[in-house]
Amino acid sequence: MKKLIAGNWKMNGDSASNAELLAGIVAGLPGLDACDVLVCPPSVYVASAVTALAGQPVAVGGQDVSVQVKGAYTGEVSAVMLRDVGATYAIVGHSERRQYHGETDALVGEKAQAALAHGITPVVCIGETLAQREAGETNAVVKRQLAAVIHAVGHCVSELVLAYEPVWAIGTGQTATPEQAQAVHAVIRAQIAAATEHPERVRILYGGSMNAANATQLLAQPDIDGGLIGGASLKVADFLTIIRAAQG
Ligand code: PEP
Repeated sequence: MKKLIAGNWKMNGDSASNAELLAGIVAGLPGLDACDVLVCPPSVYVASAVTALAGQPVAVGGQDVSVQVKGAYTGEVSAVMLRDVGATYAIVGHSERRQYHGETDALVGEKAQAALAHGITPVVCIGETLAQREAGETNAVVKRQLAAVIHAVGHCVSELVLAYEPVWAIGTGQTATPEQAQAVHAVIRAQIAAATEHPERVRILYGGSMNAANATQLLAQPDIDGGLIGGASLKVADFLTIIRAAQG
């Protein structure tokens, strides 16, 4: 299974800086085809990113997806719309959506299901807060979040991409050690193995302050199949270094 290196741009960039970032990534990619690459710009820039990346080995995704297909849902973007403009992935259940928009485990599961139903691969984020880790609840929290997704997507479990993102490591510069990350990834892998006959198809990404300096060690862990990268995905050189680290 190829690793997947995904950039979550969050609410950053504009037309000019996005064009520069994408051109830089494309220019640096030749020879780095042993992993898949994905960028997730803000929704208003998804279509222009698809256009800029035409013919290039870089997929484009949204940062969220609605459970609805269309209608009176102001502000929402559906999987059908993402697909219509050429996106193929959507991040679902990012901790910032859970925290600032009150997204529940059940809603995240419904979003993953809505994405799959319309040809969008959901990158489903799960992970514990610092308080939960300190209380020894990491595995229980991650299992509960994942169970809701498995329940919602039924027989499509093998089509998911998962991202283990400890909330305390996102945007903080504090990374899980490779051993800490691997331990949780192994728990996730076991849960997936119990839910599908094809657990080997499910990529489990690590996210949380992955950067040019720590990517090699994280990506060397047996159950880390790629990275979901925030801050470092906005810097061409850093993002390319992480892609290089994923070449195996
Ligand atoms: C993220 O937002 O998914 C993320 C991992 O951010 P950062 O890499 O900046 O911690």
